Amino acid sequence: MEPAGAPPQGCGPAQEAEEPPGSPALPAEEPQSGQPSGAHPGEGEPSAAAGRERCCRRGAGPQGPPGRTARGRGRRAQGRRGGEEGGRAGRRPRVTVDSSKAKTSLEALKISLRQLRWKEFPFGRRLPCDIYWHGVSFHDNDIFSGQVNKFPGMTEMVRKITLSRAVRTMQDLFPLEYNFYPRSWILPDEFPLFVAEVRMMKDSDPSWKPTFIVKPDGGCQGDGIYLIKDPSDIRLTGSIQSRPAVVQEYICKPLLVDKLKFDIRLYVLLKSLEPLEIYIAKDGLSRFCTEPYQEPTLKNLHQVFMHLTNYSLNIHSGNFIHSDNVNTGSKRTFSSILCRLSSRGADVKKLWSDIISLVIKTIIALTPELKVYYQSDIPAGKPGPTCFQILGFDILLMKNLKPMLLEVNANPSMRIEHEQELSPGVFENVPSPVDEEVKVAVIRDTLRLVDPQKKKRKDIQSHKIMFYNLKTSRKTVSSKNKVNIRYNYFMCYRCQTLEHVSEANEELLDAGPADRLEYDTTKSPEAGLPSLCLKQVFPKYAKQFNYLRLVDRVAALFIRFLGVKGTTKLGPTGFRTFIRNCKLSNSNFSMASVDILYIDITRRWNSTGIDHKESGMCLQAFVEAFFCLAQKKYKSLPLHEQVASLIHFCEYHLAALDEKRLVCGRA
Ligand code: ADP
Repeated sequence: MEPAGAPPQGCGPAQEAEEPPGSPALPAEEPQSGQPSGAHPGEGEPSAAAGRERCCRRGAGPQGPPGRTARGRGRRAQGRRGGEEGGRAGRRPRVTVDSSKAKTSLEALKISLRQLRWKEFPFGRRLPCDIYWHGVSFHDNDIFSGQVNKFPGMTEMVRKITLSRAVRTMQDLFPLEYNFYPRSWILPDEFPLFVAEVRMMKDSDPSWKPTFIVKPDGGCQGDGIYLIKDPSDIRLTGSIQSRPAVVQEYICKPLLVDKLKFDIRLYVLLKSLEPLEIYIAKDGLSRFCTEPYQEPTLKNLHQVFMHLTNYSLNIHSGNFIHSDNVNTGSKRTFSSILCRLSSRGADVKKLWSDIISLVIKTIIALTPELKVYYQSDIPAGKPGPTCFQILGFDILLMKNLKPMLLEVNANPSMRIEHEQELSPGVFENVPSPVDEEVKVAVIRDTLRLVDPQKKKRKDIQSHKIMFYNLKTSRKTVSSKNKVNIRYNYFMCYRCQTLEHVSEANEELLDAGPADRLEYDTTKSPEAGLPSLCLKQVFPKYAKQFNYLRLVDRVAALFIRFLGVKGTTKLGPTGFRTFIRNCKLSNSNFSMASVDILYIDITRRWNSTGIDHKESGMCLQAFVEAFFCLAQKKYKSLPLHEQVASLIHFCEYHLAALDEKRLVCGRA
């Protein structure tokens, strides 16, 4: 079952569409304090443009005057802080954000911070900040606390080759569920396979006249991309062309608007990896080609303005239309497209539902390897920040409205201005209202969702609720649980971990009349802001998608046997221990065969030339070995059932081992 979605504003997200019976729709508006739920985005919203004007007038730029020492800046910052943060008694401390590494997202970030009335540190800060906003990657700064807007390893994970591999693993397990990604091959390694498969498909269906698109790994903005009709047209020599690439089936029948091909950039917030939390922005951008579309022929293959929707390419076309109106021009809001589709009678609710599925499934494909990177950079139990990240999903709609994933961007452009050529060769940056409308809302609402003070307020509220419940719902709380609640509360004072105690008590308490508890929300800094443009889709729809998370569980086994923290690859001893502890070797599968399996697979993966930094078995190689073992052990089942059975078998034996160790330890 797929989630039923609600279309974006105008056609939907603002006036949330009603849920069809029996299927969940896009999440309902989360009511913000001091504001009626369901308010139209934009109503009562502090104007983004106005915010920017104010922000420009202050003139705070990212670069400090040259020669200033970090120390001097720190002292000045502290002096200001006395007045601005600690300040008046009873005043809420402001959330602090280090924007010194924000790069091109700085303008949109500044506007968002002003709307939230949070404290920006454009030159960094000697004391820790609550949030670090990075323009490029997790490693832009050394951070030991707070939150950072990038996950370690994300940039590597969404490169064209790595993404294709991760999706292909899922396609092997669940081919129907993952048919939203075009068939792809990795070059140069899979060139012979590509040739053989295309020949086979042509033989079985002589009417099949495919087109393929070749995309260099790590490329962006259409760089180095070209279309071909036959595998023999691939350029395997030459400096740029010989770099690793993905060759993909070209989607020949895209949906057209005004006879033009377009794609959709949707913003997705990965708020947390463990537990998995995903939000989707209700509106995105549609980027248009600038030449009317024709199906690919040998004559038009090279016409980039007809086939590639990249803004960075089409802006150089004489036909590019800059527009301040979200419904026209070469860059529009996605909601404006949905309105048009809806007026033509298209089922935009089903379209949203398919898009939500695509996003959740793609993130499920990415999480196993992300968790390996995460434990390597932020080992459990060591001080480190928590992470969240805004991702840019590029999606193409087919003529039949089926969404297809083109790629995922770890650093989607958050620029809210565009270059305009005043006279030949003379460019000027001018504000782009369409970008501003969508991107400022995404950044601001991401910040609202990760607001560290909201979490503290929630903890305090849950304590009030706890005592209210203790007093009022005597009948519903057993005396044993009451003792437990008191104990948790006592522990909370001892170890200052409000979060843990409230979580523990939530389980013990009946919901009771907690919602009648009076809680002062009128002072919330969010009062007056529009409702969130980001809607939670996971865990909201977890029940429908959890069965897909098999590789996540394989990754958990892998991480358990990695041994030394900080590595991403499994050594031969770790692999042997995994086999032994999970009781996978027997008379048919000796430890010598285990070693051969390890060497064979590891050597093959390490020769693909993706990552030479460490020796050993990477997660993808481990997954391949795991699938091999599963096929051996559970011969007659389909692959996903074989893998699920082996995971269950391993988890069972490891749990038994842990229990045995616990008992021995006690003894
Ligand atoms: P880049 O990172 O260089 O932008 P993309 O994968 O986004 O690379 O591809 C660039 C453009 O090419 C896309 O915006 C889209 O218009 C077109 N494109 C990419 N893959 C396909 C495909 N499989 N079928 C049709 N068009 C595609």
